[in-house]
Amino acid sequence: MAGQGTGLPIVAIVGRPNVGKSTLFNRIVGERAAIVEDRARTTRDRMYGDAEWNSRRFLLVDTGGLEIAPDDPIEAKVQVQARLAIAEADVIVLVVDAITGLTPADREAADLLRVAKAPVFVAANKADNAARELDAAEFWELGWERTFAIAASHGRGVADLLDELVLALPPESPAELARKTRQAEADEFAADVAAGRLEPFVVDEPEGDDAGDEPELGLDIDDASGDVEAAKWDAMLAAASDDEPPAIAFVGRQNVGKSSLLNALLGEERTIVSDVPGTTRDAIDTRVAWGRSEVVLIDTAGIKKRGKVASGSAADRFSTLRSLRAISRADVAVLLIDGVDGLTAQDAHIAGYVVEEGRGLVIAVNKWDAVEDKQGSTFDQYVEWIRHEAPFLDFAPVVSISAKTGQRIHRVLELAVDVWAERRKRVPTGELNRLLTTASDRQQPPVVKGKRPKLFYATQASVAPPTFVFFAREAGSVHFSYQRYLENRLRDTFGFLGTPIRLVFRERAGIRAERRSTKRRGGGGGGRATAAVKRGR
Ligand code: GDP
Ligand code: GDP
Repeated sequence: MAGQGTGLPIVAIVGRPNVGKSTLFNRIVGERAAIVEDRARTTRDRMYGDAEWNSRRFLLVDTGGLEIAPDDPIEAKVQVQARLAIAEADVIVLVVDAITGLTPADREAADLLRVAKAPVFVAANKADNAARELDAAEFWELGWERTFAIAASHGRGVADLLDELVLALPPESPAELARKTRQAEADEFAADVAAGRLEPFVVDEPEGDDAGDEPELGLDIDDASGDVEAAKWDAMLAAASDDEPPAIAFVGRQNVGKSSLLNALLGEERTIVSDVPGTTRDAIDTRVAWGRSEVVLIDTAGIKKRGKVASGSAADRFSTLRSLRAISRADVAVLLIDGVDGLTAQDAHIAGYVVEEGRGLVIAVNKWDAVEDKQGSTFDQYVEWIRHEAPFLDFAPVVSISAKTGQRIHRVLELAVDVWAERRKRVPTGELNRLLTTASDRQQPPVVKGKRPKLFYATQASVAPPTFVFFAREAGSVHFSYQRYLENRLRDTFGFLGTPIRLVFRERAGIRAERRSTKRRGGGGGGRATAAVKRGR
C-alpha cells in the first residue's frame, strides 16, 4: 500500500465570513467528528474533518477556521484561504450567501480561484426555500458550471452537491482501496458469524447466574463449514499481508524537526530538493533498506520549503493538514513533538487523527539535547506527563531523541517497525475466547439502563488495525468502561504495542433462537457523515 497515491483527497471550503462555511462543514462531518471526540475524550479542532459520501472518503477543511488575525480585513482573509485552497485542495467549494447576494469579496475570492487546477464548486448557501433558490441563480454569473443552491443549516441541496463533489475527486488510492477491501471482508465475516452461517469455534459458556437460560452456543463445526471458515481466514490473511514494506510517516507541527530527523536518518540533505511542480503538493516517499527488508519513509516536511502560501500559524495549520493526508496512507505515524514545548493541543489533534485512522503511533520527543537540567528520572516524568495529558494515547511508545546529535534516532525506526508488526498481529480465536472467559468471569459487564449485556464469544475480524468482534446479548449496552477493560485485558495478554485496536459489539441471537441475520448492529464504520445530510425536496 505504501508509496503510491497521495492519501485521502482534500476538499477545501472557502468563502468570506458568515456565509455558512462552518455550518456546511458541520453538516458534512458533524456526526462523525462528535463520535471521535467522544472516544478520544479530547476536544478536537473542528477545522479538519473526515467525511464520507457514496463510499468515498475525503478530508474536509474549513479554511475559515484557519484565519489567524480576526481583525484582518475580509479581503485579506479570503486571500489567505483561497491561496491555501489552491495549493492544497483537490476540490474547492466556494460558499456564498444567497440572502446577501454577490459581494465584492465574493468576486475577489472567485477571481483568485480561477487559476486553481482543482475543480471549483459554488455553494449558494441560505437558499432556505424555493424563492431563495431563485435568488441563488445570480451566482451563475461567477461562471462556474457546478453552482448549487443549498441550505447548510437544514441540509437542503447538500446531498446533490455531495453527489457531484465526490465524482470530481481524484481516483481512489491503492491504500484506500486496500482498506476498503479489508473492511468489507471483516464486515462480511462478522455478519456471517452473527447470522450463524459460520461458527468460529466451540465455546464453554462462561459460568454465571443466568447461564442456564441462555440458548446453547456450543455448536459443533461440521466439516463443510470448517472449510468455508478456513478459506475465509486465508483470504483475509492474504489481504492483510501484502508484500509492501512498512510505510512510516513523520508527522507533526512545523519546526518540530521532521526534516532534520529524516535527513539524519538518510544521512543527506534530501528533503529540500524536489521542488518539482505537480509533485510538490504531496509528501515525498523514500524507500530505504532496513535490516533484511525495506521501509518507506513518508516525509511531510520537505514540501514546506516551497509553498510560501502563508506564514505563521496558518502555515502551521496546513502542516497539520499535510500530516493528516500522510497519515491516511501510512502504516505507522511517528509523531514528533518538540521536547522543549511539550505536547501541544495541535500535537494531540494530529495524534487523535492517527487513532481515528487506526494507524500505528510512535511518539518521538525531539530536541532532547535542548531539554535542560535532565536527570535520571526526567524522561520517565516526561512520559508520565504525556500519559496524563493524553490518556487516549497510552498505547503508543514514547522515545526521546535528538535529530541534531543523532541520539536514539534509529530507535525510532525500530519502534515503528515493531508497531507495524503489532498492527498486523492476529490472535487465534481459541486464545481470544479463553481470555474473554477469564475476563468476564473476573468482571461482568455492568448493568446499563436495567440491562446486563452478556458476551458470548469473540473473534478477530481483521488486522491493521486489529479489530475484534464480540457477539453479545444487549450488545448496544456494553459500557465504555467495560470496553476499556476488555481492551486492557487484550493488551495485557497480546501486546499490540503502538496500535489502536477496535472493539465491535454485535447482537447475537442464540443459535436455536430465531436467526435475525438481517438485523445487523452498526459496527465500526457507523455514524458517518451520511446520516447527517438529508436529501432536499
Ligand atoms: P462562516 O463564518 O462562513 O463559517 O459562517 P457560519 O457557519 O458561522 O454561519 C454564519 C451564520 O449563517 C450563522 O448564524 C448561521 O446560523 C447562518 N446560516 C448558516 N447556514 C444557513 C442556512 O442554510 N440558512 C440560513 N438562513 N442561515 C444559515
Ligand atoms: P520541520 O519543520 O518539522 O521539518 O523542522 P526542521 O527539521 O526544519 O527543524 C526546525 C528547527 O529545529 C531547525 O532550526 C532545526 O535545526 C531545529 N532542530 C531540529 N531537530 C533538533 C534537535 O534535535 N535539537 C535541537 N536543538 N534543534 C533541532
